[in-house]
Amino acid sequence: MVPGMHLEFVGAAQTVTGSMHLLRTKHATVLLDCGLYQGKRQESFERNRHLPLPIDEITTVVLSHAHIDHSGALPLLVKNGYDGPIYATPATRDLCAVMLRDAAAIQDSDARFLNRHAEKEGRSETVEPLYDDEDVIEAVSRFFSVPYHHAAPIAPGVKLTFLDAGHVLGSAITVLDVEEDGVHRRIVFTGDLGRNDRPILRDPEVPDKVDVLITESTYGDRLHDGTEKMEEDLARVINRTYQRGGKLLIPSFALERAQEVIFAIKKLRGAGKVPAMKVYVDSPLTVKITDVFKLHPECYDAETRAMMRSHNSPFEFDNLRYVDDVETSKFIDQEQEPSIIISASGMCEAGRILHHLKSAIEDQKNTIMIVGYQAQHTLGRRLVEQRPRVRIFGVERDRRAEVVVLNGFSAHADQKDLVQYAERCREKGPMRQIALVHGDPKPQKILAELLGSKKGAKVAMPVTGDQLTIE
Ligand SMILES: [Zn+2]
Repeated sequence: MVPGMHLEFVGAAQTVTGSMHLLRTKHATVLLDCGLYQGKRQESFERNRHLPLPIDEITTVVLSHAHIDHSGALPLLVKNGYDGPIYATPATRDLCAVMLRDAAAIQDSDARFLNRHAEKEGRSETVEPLYDDEDVIEAVSRFFSVPYHHAAPIAPGVKLTFLDAGHVLGSAITVLDVEEDGVHRRIVFTGDLGRNDRPILRDPEVPDKVDVLITESTYGDRLHDGTEKMEEDLARVINRTYQRGGKLLIPSFALERAQEVIFAIKKLRGAGKVPAMKVYVDSPLTVKITDVFKLHPECYDAETRAMMRSHNSPFEFDNLRYVDDVETSKFIDQEQEPSIIISASGMCEAGRILHHLKSAIEDQKNTIMIVGYQAQHTLGRRLVEQRPRVRIFGVERDRRAEVVVLNGFSAHADQKDLVQYAERCREKGPMRQIALVHGDPKPQKILAELLGSKKGAKVAMPVTGDQLTIE
């Protein structure tokens, strides 16, 4: 046991949102990720407003990747007085500069919504947005970029190295080499772990000599479809919709999912497997994020790098148009010819996708293709459930459009990947302890049994506030 060295689990403990973990040593307190809790509007607002962190004690912050449930509370941390550095990969920094500003705009509209609601109920109290654009600018100015595979001293006795996590652009596995009283421990946090053989990104890297592995466990109880099946399914859906003369709507998360879909369509088209119908990417955030992708070829796999070298961008092809302005966004619904529209938000709760759904949902020629996780109580979930009627902009509408769900696009490791990853770490030993985070209790329990059934490390499933002493 290393006296005094321990982990404390603050968020994403037996849940999949609000990632926040603390590493405490005698000389430093390192915060791993600082994510927003995402759930129902009122509940999320209350939980996020009171950051459950000892801000004065935090020496340094390390960010695994740009997703808002990992990065979205950073502006709040800075607003509440944190004035130290925030370490991230260069691509994560650039993505955060775009995504946190978008998050600030959502905070603003959420606060307005809650205030209108309070007014209707005759309550006088109002809420302020959690943070604004200025807070985001301040937070982003604290970022220090550390490229993959460069060891950087980040706090007394703590050295950081990022490895590729293969989850989204810039995503990193955080490797911390910690020295205390002559004892060395290597503590590794997977962040969100990607999958092998995915388009665009490299496979997750495996560190050696891990003492403690903090691993995500989102899909500890599930297996995903492979990339090939996903592309075949996508081709079938595109062809079917084209033959009906309809539109294919793809509600998509702006980071990674949208770019993967664009790339998959490009490949299918290049192979002559789908017709050259028009494709619109209609989401200002997705457009900005795709621009960040173009700036970071250092994150690509060999196939994508080779394409870039021959001036064949994975994110461009004939008849593909990125839409920024509202006029064009409205125009594409009125077009008669078949087309594909990729738009945000991914769960169909806000944004331009709602306008496209409104105009497309009642026509059986059209298809809505769901490519991401849909939380309960969202319009996306109701579509997945194939409900015959759904409410859009407060009006009940018949759903005549076909709804197709493709599961192969997930950016998270599945059960087999998670077990294999832990095994590969264990082979490079010594791996004394494993802590499961970022997962619901059921998948965690199943995964813990699988990991624990092999000899070696102890497996913990910490709840919020739990501490784990480093052995
Ligand atoms: Zn993520």
